[in-house]
Amino acid sequence: MTPHPNGHPTAFTFSSLEQQLRDARAVGYEFMTCADYVRRKGRDLPPLGVVLRVDVDVSVKRARRLGEVFAAADVRGTFFIRLHAHEYNPLSFEHYAIIKGLIAAGHELGYHSEIVDQAAIWNEDPATCLRRDLNVLSAAFDTPVRGIASHGGGTGLNNLDFWKTHRPQEFGLLYEAYDHEPTFNLFQEAFYISDSEWTRWKCYDRGRLVEGDRRTLGEHLADRHPLIYLLIHSDTYFDRHFYE
Ligand SMILES: [Zn+2]
Repeated sequence: MTPHPNGHPTAFTFSSLEQQLRDARAVGYEFMTCADYVRRKGRDLPPLGVVLRVDVDVSVKRARRLGEVFAAADVRGTFFIRLHAHEYNPLSFEHYAIIKGLIAAGHELGYHSEIVDQAAIWNEDPATCLRRDLNVLSAAFDTPVRGIASHGGGTGLNNLDFWKTHRPQEFGLLYEAYDHEPTFNLFQEAFYISDSEWTRWKCYDRGRLVEGDRRTLGEHLADRHPLIYLLIHSDTYFDRHFYE
């Protein structure tokens, strides 16, 4: 395996991530968006596949940099964008251009949902919020939005709870990122690797936490898991240091 640049391999630099993605490609992994996975599941999944999911929690500018990394490594994924964040406006001059650029580069646009939070804060029906948000996001970027990932924010509510009593198909969606539908069910069927603890990786083997396993994506490649579900956040990565 190629040594990772920028010192320690657990450093969350963009270049370290790029090297790990290149390494994955070099050992034969094929990268898919979440929607690609639904379309290919049960038909023509690659022998080694990575479903690449990006949650854009705070920084769209870092999502642009991630797009550059993905282009260099020749991989595609799904970018989940928030609509109601106070941290960013997806329609600001710069952010709109960045998101349009990601779509033009072949990435999927997904919705990073906060509908349970909205319903509580606005006293509205979450299903109504979801339909409206899907219409707004699809119209704004002139592309169908076919997938949801639920954001974990600061309200203490869980945006995933909505899906205990609803199915993505009710809303014309292909998937929710943690759904149990046979058409997706990815978290339960894949080896899941996530940077959601910001400064270290964690992993789940077909839905079960692997205690104490903090290996990077690059370090997991030796195990040749046939299907990897990779969740990363744009905010986690940096060129020189976290606070740049
Ligand atoms: Zn999030």
